[in-house]
Amino acid sequence: MAGLRQRTAVPIRRAIVEMGEYVPVRPLEELSRDLGIPVANLVKLDANENPYGCSPHVRAAIAACDHYHIYPDPEQVELRAALSRYCGQPADWLLAGAGSDELIDLLIRLVVEPGDRVLDAVPTFGMYSFLAPVQGGVVVPVPRRSDFSLDLPALLAAIDDRTRLLFVASPNNPTANLAARADIVRLLETGLLVVVDEAYYEFSGETLADLVTEFENLVVMRTFSKWAGLAGLRVGYIIAAPSLLQHLWKMKQPYNVSVAAQVAARAAVDDLPHIQRTINALLAERRRLMDLLQSVPYLRPLPSSANFIFCPVEGRSARSLRDELRRQGILIRFFDTPLLRNAVRVSVGKPEHTERLRKALAGLSPA
Ligand SMILES: *Cc1c(COP(=O)(O)O)cnc(C)c1O
Repeated sequence: MAGLRQRTAVPIRRAIVEMGEYVPVRPLEELSRDLGIPVANLVKLDANENPYGCSPHVRAAIAACDHYHIYPDPEQVELRAALSRYCGQPADWLLAGAGSDELIDLLIRLVVEPGDRVLDAVPTFGMYSFLAPVQGGVVVPVPRRSDFSLDLPALLAAIDDRTRLLFVASPNNPTANLAARADIVRLLETGLLVVVDEAYYEFSGETLADLVTEFENLVVMRTFSKWAGLAGLRVGYIIAAPSLLQHLWKMKQPYNVSVAAQVAARAAVDDLPHIQRTINALLAERRRLMDLLQSVPYLRPLPSSANFIFCPVEGRSARSLRDELRRQGILIRFFDTPLLRNAVRVSVGKPEHTERLRKALAGLSPA
């Protein structure tokens, strides 16, 4: 820091100082260089992306758009009309964000004052517990049962007068199971704001969106990142009562969803038959991947309602399994935390990806 002319103790907010370090995901190019394997030969089964990419219609729409020099529509009129056609909810019950991640952040900022509590049904997607403390929220982890279903009595018991919000991913990431509708209804009856994150809805076919007209305290959240192959463009949306959305409209940055992202999401909705074919291919591949994982003696794959399979590992190290597959260019996620002991998560890929994985697993020592 010798080059600094002025050294001042900038008064960083306490909540930020106390946060853990940010651990970035390594770019593919860097990994490719380290492994000596071209990017095109890497089998990326670590982030639940759609390996078929976005539809050709989406690519064409992005290329054809001639108004990138104009700011995006802050009211997302065309986009919300397309979303409305897609999900069957009226446009004034919809709001889009730069991925679900932005919407998670907005929802926390909507209700959390410093010191307020945010319930987290762990193990689950890390973004909820990452973003709540930025706002001074206190994350209260409520462990799921051993089969990763919600522990309803424990969740109900955890609600106190400073509890503002509960996040439930359904299907859950990384365990791939759905939340029981009756459990969510019981939680909604307490009046607590419940955000049901349906990032994998298109792979499960199950939704609680029909309940938004009954419960003002329900928010259903979706994304184009997984099914539509648009993770890189960042489009998510929420379905909720206009009485709740009106406050989010005041808070959200006017230009949160870029012109390219709005064009892409609209084009995706206009090209559902194509995308549905890739979803069907992934659902068929999920069965083949499940068969493969079940045939490996040390893997214990759990049933999946999403485009990935969670797999506890027995009698060998999940970390070394991840490492050995990575050396062969196959990328998967590994977990070893108190609630996720020695496990891996494998995204569903194309048939040739399953074959690469089959060959790699066959070449490993049995344990
Ligand atoms: C991948 C994922 C998302 C997607 O977030 P985006 O910001 O929309 O890319 C959201 N929730 C869960 C549970 C996920 O696994």
